Amino acid sequence: MCVFCKIIKNEIPSQKVYEDAFVTAFLDINPVNPGHTLVVPNNHVADMQSASNEDLSRMIIATKKVAKGILKALDYKAFNLEMNNGAIAGQVVNHLHFHIVPRTEDDGLTHWPGQQYKEGEMDDVADKIKKVLKTEGAINGVSGMKQES
Ligand code: 5GP
Ligand code: ZN
Repeated sequence: MCVFCKIIKNEIPSQKVYEDAFVTAFLDINPVNPGHTLVVPNNHVADMQSASNEDLSRMIIATKKVAKGILKALDYKAFNLEMNNGAIAGQVVNHLHFHIVPRTEDDGLTHWPGQQYKEGEMDDVADKIKKVLKTEGAINGVSGMKQES
């Protein structure tokens, strides 16, 4: 059983701050800032692709409630909602989780670096994604003005 499943089932200690039939939230043991909280589905699933729409919906609704509570309780003005999906993206615990990371102006976290697309590349990338989404029935098409790189 994974470490987060053990926390959900109270088989190991944790600081839970929220739970319902679908979702549990508890303090991250190594916080970026105090109040850094992990929101997890009570079912074990490794990543977003494996999660049910119901679990994902419940997670984001619980995240809103918990994040508002963290801001109010600890007097923060902002937070990042972060998720490491897959080992290459930095996921260490293989039980889907959102990080609610409350922020201060001087906590030293920086935004990720942005690259430049090559000429025409942005169009190709968007076309590839839309082709898959269309094949999988996620879209019929999309509207809007295309941005060229
Ligand atoms: P990931 O890199 O997988 O997105 O993040 C996993 C997070 O889980 C880390 O921030 C780490 O501090 C936290 N974590 C790992 N093991 C435990 C634990 O046993 N208890 C708690 N509360 N947090 C944990
Ligand atoms: Zn688990």
